[in-house]
Amino acid sequence: MKGFRKFLGYFQFVAISLLTTAVVVWLAAKLQLVPSDPPLSQNSPSSPTVSTPAPSGDDRSSRPVSPQPDLYENLPSLPQQSSPQPVVPTTVPRVATAPKNFHGHLPYAEDEGSRLVSVGEFVRGTYRRQEYLDQEAATAFNQLLAAATKANLTLQPISGFRSVDDQTELFEKQVQKYGSREAAAKLSAPPGYSEHHTGYAIDISDRDQPEKDLKLAFEKTTAYRWLSANAGNYDFELSFPPNNTQGVSFEPWHWRYIGTQRAAVQFASARS
Ligand SMILES: [Zn+2]
Repeated sequence: MKGFRKFLGYFQFVAISLLTTAVVVWLAAKLQLVPSDPPLSQNSPSSPTVSTPAPSGDDRSSRPVSPQPDLYENLPSLPQQSSPQPVVPTTVPRVATAPKNFHGHLPYAEDEGSRLVSVGEFVRGTYRRQEYLDQEAATAFNQLLAAATKANLTLQPISGFRSVDDQTELFEKQVQKYGSREAAAKLSAPPGYSEHHTGYAIDISDRDQPEKDLKLAFEKTTAYRWLSANAGNYDFELSFPPNNTQGVSFEPWHWRYIGTQRAAVQFASARS
């Protein structure tokens, strides 16, 4: 009898434990109604309806196959402005401390939010997105745009400043898609290694030729020929011309500003 009571007590203990566990699990399940992976802007009504092509090298890559239309579209539209911070009256940019080279990509520090200035919108269909550059590059870029307009061209920015967080999001998608960081690096600069972090690099397109956005075919446009002849007047240069020393594939749409000491310092190692 004593043994039976002991057994009954033990049985009650187990039953209560199981019941408590079940209630806790049920409550936890109820509380987890918020999705762990909130949808990005691709689900928003303002997403572009056009497909964005696959660029190479620093952006995405030279592989002519598999366009990834979601990457640029998912970029946050606003840089993180550090508004309470005063503008630091220095001409020395922050120094990137990452390893010197990641599959041809060089390390770059993120520009200060307080230095970023709008350079207009990337527009495709009903989709619009503000793009930003460092104040130094922005002034020169606006002059370049004005000159292009006089030449009856419709240039527009596709992608200017990009934070390390933006780049992490882009890059991790490539890692998931291609299986490793090494494979992804052939398609996209890893976070911390994009010229776009500096606020001095910008992808340019012809508003009238969306099918050439971020594609090698941009090389065949009047816009590219005009940029090749005139961008230098505004201190912009191609970052990745054919057969560049970094071994990054040719990107006719990707230009960087080198017109001030602060800008030139950023790209000194890339140019040497
Ligand atoms: Zn680019």
